[in-house]
Amino acid sequence: MKAAVYHGIRDVRVQYVPMPSAGPGEVVLRVLLCAVCGTDKRIFTHGQKNVVPPAITGHEIVGTVHQIGPGVGGGLQVGQKVIVATVVGCGRCVYCRRKQYNLCDSFTALGYDYAGGFAEYVKIPASAVAQGNVIAIPGSMSPERAALVEPLSCCLNGQEYLGAQPGDRAVIFGAGPIGLMHAGILKARGCQPLIVADMVDERLAYVREFGLGLPVNTAGAEAVERILKAGGGEKFDVAVTACAVKAAQADALRLVRKKGRISFFAGIPKDDPILGIDTNHIHYSEISVFGCFASNLQHYHQALEMVSRDDLPWDRFVTHKFKLDDILQAYAVVEAGQGIKTVIDCQ
Ligand SMILES: [Zn+2]
Ligand SMILES: [Zn+2]
Repeated sequence: MKAAVYHGIRDVRVQYVPMPSAGPGEVVLRVLLCAVCGTDKRIFTHGQKNVVPPAITGHEIVGTVHQIGPGVGGGLQVGQKVIVATVVGCGRCVYCRRKQYNLCDSFTALGYDYAGGFAEYVKIPASAVAQGNVIAIPGSMSPERAALVEPLSCCLNGQEYLGAQPGDRAVIFGAGPIGLMHAGILKARGCQPLIVADMVDERLAYVREFGLGLPVNTAGAEAVERILKAGGGEKFDVAVTACAVKAAQADALRLVRKKGRISFFAGIPKDDPILGIDTNHIHYSEISVFGCFASNLQHYHQALEMVSRDDLPWDRFVTHKFKLDDILQAYAVVEAGQGIKTVIDCQ
């Protein structure tokens, strides 16, 4: 089969590799589409310790069941359209016993530790199949919409902590695919006003075009003042940092009012993660700051339900589509921050 094989930093080659076959407990999928995640781009440009070349990356997988190994339960059928949950728990640690697989102390992941979806076929390991990671989707759902489920599931994990209510004032830092998904969720939850801040006008144009809130360009300016002014001078109830910028975390803390909730959704560069903050502000104003890492199975099911509805412009999220042969062009688009979601058509 054809696959995009990662041989090292900035060295991905489309080549023929042996076709996987399903052993006991395993399932092989024919990949319809695999979206390019920010982390796929980061592996391409910087590498990652649990992606050992030669490797096939890509975890935002939509496919059809091609082959079912012996002993697979759960009613999967050949030809069934599915998506795949990325994280596989060890099954033994305290988090796995609580079914919090994304917090597992020694988790593994599709597209990192196991071959991923930038290929014509992908084998889902038995541990993932047993955990329930192969999730059936309606046959009528477009692969493009289904490809949004994985990133949206991560956003829903972060949103769970925020508990946004109708009428809550909300601000999001970052108008990339993740920021726009958070905006979609907060819009659906009735937040008003809903401000999306970014430093790039092309990204902010999507906010307006999709009707996902009020775009505010914070380039070269005092971001806090600009955002406050755009929101009519009042502070916010919920804030999400959907960009890898430490200053956005500090700004979010300054922008929330009493009982404000903040999701530090995006990680920031490892070499400088310490943030000096006014802990008395957190104390006296009852501010809550939450982390978020990947997602768990229930978030995939929630995301699937969300993308199956038409109240948000999901069909417009996929702005770029490339054939597997042209995956380097896809990386270039993502690296340049163009468009929203870039997907690879693997057939
Ligand atoms: Zn992803
Ligand atoms: Zn575990």
